[in-house]
Amino acid sequence: MSLRTRKIAKERINILMKLAEEIHKTKPHLAQKYYKAAWKISLKARVPFPKKWKKRICKHCKKFLFLGFNATVRLNQNRFPHVTIKCLECGGYTRYPYKKKGSKK
Ligand SMILES: [Zn+2]
Repeated sequence: MSLRTRKIAKERINILMKLAEEIHKTKPHLAQKYYKAAWKISLKARVPFPKKWKKRICKHCKKFLFLGFNATVRLNQNRFPHVTIKCLECGGYTRYPYKKKGSKK
């Protein structure tokens, strides 16, 4: 896979995800389709799915989550600061630690 192909793939993913975000209120099913198409491109081109969007995917049912629509978000401070996202599609929870400077996994 050439660098150029990967660059194009990345651009396509971003375009699809932006579209998905824009239309989800009126056409949630279409938004899921766009997200699936973006996910396929990422697998095919071996481009990592952008982190920004990855956080919006349910770990359990792999659906694209729209906060306030099919997901709720809560901030948690106990033990370590983290965000808990509840998927209303499958009821699963996904947790992300808060951004801490310099900490990456
Ligand atoms: Zn889910």
